[in-house]
Amino acid sequence: MSAHTSADQVLALCGGIGGAKLALGLYRVLGPGRLTVLVNTGDDFEHLGLAISPDLDTVLYTLGGLADPERGWGRAQETWQCMEALRQLGGETWFQLGDRDLAMHVERSGWLRRGQTLSAFAARAARQFGIDAHILPMTDAPVRTIVETDEGALPFQHYFVRRRCEPVVRAIRFARAAEAAAPQSFIDLVAGDSLRAIVICPSNPYLSVDPILAVPGIAAALATARAPVVAVSPIIGGQAVKGPTAKIMVELGLAVTNESIAGHYRSLIDGLVVDEADGADAARLDVPTLAVPTLMRDLADRERLAGDILAFAATLVQSSAPMRAGGRRR
Ligand code: GDP
Repeated sequence: MSAHTSADQVLALCGGIGGAKLALGLYRVLGPGRLTVLVNTGDDFEHLGLAISPDLDTVLYTLGGLADPERGWGRAQETWQCMEALRQLGGETWFQLGDRDLAMHVERSGWLRRGQTLSAFAARAARQFGIDAHILPMTDAPVRTIVETDEGALPFQHYFVRRRCEPVVRAIRFARAAEAAAPQSFIDLVAGDSLRAIVICPSNPYLSVDPILAVPGIAAALATARAPVVAVSPIIGGQAVKGPTAKIMVELGLAVTNESIAGHYRSLIDGLVVDEADGADAARLDVPTLAVPTLMRDLADRERLAGDILAFAATLVQSSAPMRAGGRRR
């Protein structure tokens, strides 16, 4: 890609809360019609007879301005009448579903029962919420993240919500990934010349980004993309900002460092963004590294980080193709 083309599109890969924060920053900095978000659906599951897509909904609610700012998941101004009534009936209440949120699951379930796709549902929901960005599930096929633990194989939500990430993780696999197909619009976007950057958001690399990369064709498309690929590390000062990322890294025998994150994404990325507190790591990493504040507390933080990433990606444009040809991408 030459610096003279009018590449104005950005692709972001993300899971739920952590990733959606940066997706919102990118959306606001880029403006309408310029962002595609490829979202993890390995966390999806059927519960109470409903099709639930937690990460997809977090991204839709976040970009639609509907997310609960405290929890990060679910909708703002939520009420919980249905959960109360369910508890009274002795029903399953370990997975919290708010009344407004339930409308999403009811509507999606009917949509899927009629044979329509999850991606078409996401596109319609995005339109209904006034979002001018493409929100793409990583696939329309039912890929499911299975966590192999010291308590046996647990479906993702059983590990994450029901068992609160307490079991020791031995391995993570993505059931039925081999049969899944990447969205054609993703393949076309990455193969075309309209992309200025591909951003791997600071989502959990093992639970949120790996399922996306497990869909046949996605990792290969990223590895050969002309646009620079930049990942943002979810590790700051040897700790995860939230969630089980650090615990899982330890359990998988990995050091909780930016080196481990760089190593994990090495075959895909042209650059890594780490927190300013970890600036000293840059010299040790074998990938171009930008050290800037990456902790996204408020909207200004999200927008600033998005701007920093795009500026960093622009510096990698000239070097990414020759470096790839030179075999840095293994
Ligand atoms: P998900 O993996 O995107 O579904 O969402 P989580 O909220 O579970 O976050 C996943 C990872 O993102 C965790 O390892 C967090 O450490 C990291 N994370 C969350 N918020 C931030 C942030 O503001 N900055 C950075 N750098 N990482 C974050």
